[in-house]
Amino acid sequence: MGARALAGRIRSGEVSALEVIDNCLAEISKRDSTIHAFVHVAYEKAREEAKEIDAKIAAGEDPGVLAGVPVALKDNLCTKAAPTTCSSKILENWVPPYDATVVTKLKAAGAVIVGKTNMDEFAMGSSTEHSAFGPTLNPRDTSRVPGGSSGGSASAVADGMVTLALGSDTGGSIRQPASFCGVVGIKPTYGSVSRYGLVAFASSLDQIGPLAGNVDDATMLLEVVSGWDPLDSTSLQRPSFILDSVSREGVKGIKVGILNELVDLVDNEVATQVRKAADLLDSEGAAVEDVSMTSIGWGIPAYYLIASAEASSNLSRYDGVRYGLRVEGANATLMNSFTRAKGFGAEVKRRIMLGTYALSAGYYDAYYAKAQKIRTLIIQDFQRVYERFDALLAPTTPSVAFLLGEKLTDPLAMYLSDICTVPSSLAGHPAMNIPFGTASGGLPVGIQIMAPALGEASMLKVAKTLEQASQGGFQ
Ligand code: GLN
Repeated sequence: MGARALAGRIRSGEVSALEVIDNCLAEISKRDSTIHAFVHVAYEKAREEAKEIDAKIAAGEDPGVLAGVPVALKDNLCTKAAPTTCSSKILENWVPPYDATVVTKLKAAGAVIVGKTNMDEFAMGSSTEHSAFGPTLNPRDTSRVPGGSSGGSASAVADGMVTLALGSDTGGSIRQPASFCGVVGIKPTYGSVSRYGLVAFASSLDQIGPLAGNVDDATMLLEVVSGWDPLDSTSLQRPSFILDSVSREGVKGIKVGILNELVDLVDNEVATQVRKAADLLDSEGAAVEDVSMTSIGWGIPAYYLIASAEASSNLSRYDGVRYGLRVEGANATLMNSFTRAKGFGAEVKRRIMLGTYALSAGYYDAYYAKAQKIRTLIIQDFQRVYERFDALLAPTTPSVAFLLGEKLTDPLAMYLSDICTVPSSLAGHPAMNIPFGTASGGLPVGIQIMAPALGEASMLKVAKTLEQASQGGFQ
C-alpha cells in the first residue's frame, strides 16, 4: 500500500500505527537475516514512536501527513536515538548528539523511523559490498548486488520491508541502487534538501533523496524533507516542493532529449528499454528528439577527482579524538595514524590517498583544477541542451544488477558503473530512476530522467507517465 493511503488508514483509526509498525518489524526480523538491508533496527524506539502517534490521533491532534508510515534511513544520516556508523568501523557505535534536519522533518510529519540501512563505507561505492558490516543482497536475485551506496535503503523498499527510505546521492548512490532493485529513487536539485546532519563525503555533490515503491510515494517524501534550512549554508532559500498534483499533468508539449552518448555505451537490453520509453513519451504527446552532449564521457575522471579531493578533506575529522574509534599510540601522531589505519576500509583509504594526491602542491593544477574545468564544461553543455529541452532521458546504469564479487577487485570497473549518473551530480541538477521493464533474466531495468536545476516538476511528469505505462504492461 502507498504511503498516503497507509497514513490515511492510520489517521482514520482503521488500523493503529502500532499494528503497522509491529507488522513492519516482524517482516524485517523475518527477511533481513537474508538480505541484510539494515545495520540497526529500532525495535523499541519505533514501537514507542508508533504509540505516540496513536495517542495523538486518540486526542484529536494532527499526527502529520506520514502518520505511522515506516521509514528507513541510510546510516549516514544523524539520529540522536540510534548509532550512525556510515557502515564504518571508525564510527562503530557512535551516537550523534543531534538529529539531521531530514530526521526532524520526518518526525514532525509523523513518520516512524524503523532503522538504519547498510551502505558502502562513507558512501564510497556502487554495490554496498564496501560496508564494514558485510554486503546487502539484491532481493530480486540474491546472487547479485543491490547497487550502492544506498543499497540497504533500496533493498529494504524493494523487499517490502518499509514503505519509504532515504538515501544520499553524491554520484549516483540513490539512482543506481534504485535501478538495480527496481524502485523509484530521486536525487533532488543540490540545495533543495538540507544536508545538515548528513555525514559529509563530497560536500559540493552530496544530496539526500527519497527511495520508494512508486512515484507518488517518492514525491510525498521529497515534499516532506525539502525546503530551506538555515543550518545548511548551501540550502536554497525557497519553500518545500509542492509537486504531487503537478506530476499527474502528463507530458503533452514537454520537450524530452534522449542522451545519445549514454544510450550508445550501455548494454543492449538497457538501451532497448530507453528507446521504448522514448517512443512511449512520444505517443503521449511529448516532443522527443535525440541529443548529443560530448562532454559527458569526461564525467567519471572529473567526478572521481573532485569527490575524492573533497573526501580527503572531510574525512580528516576522524582523528581518534573527536569521534568513534581510538587506537592508542605512543604519541598523538601515532594514535591518529593507528586509528585511521584500523578504522577505515580499503576503498576509503584509496579515495583519501587519491584525493590528497590530487590536491597536493605540484599536482593540483594537473588533476584537481583540470577536473574543475571539466565540471564547468559539463555544466555549460547542460545549459546549452536545456535551452531546447525540459528533461533528458538516459539509462541509469550501463547494465542490470551485477553479481556479488564481480567488480570488487577492480575499482575502475566499479567506478565505470556510475558513468550515467555522475553528469547531473557534477551539475547539481535533479535526476531520478524509474523502473521500466526487465531484461531477459527478469532483472529490473531503470530509466534515468534528468532535468535542469529545480526542474523537478517536468522530471516527475515524465516519470509518472512512464510508470503508468509500465503498470499498464506497456514495456
Ligand atoms: N559510486 C559513486 C562513488 O563511489 C557514487 C557514490 C555516491 O553517490 N555516494 O563515489
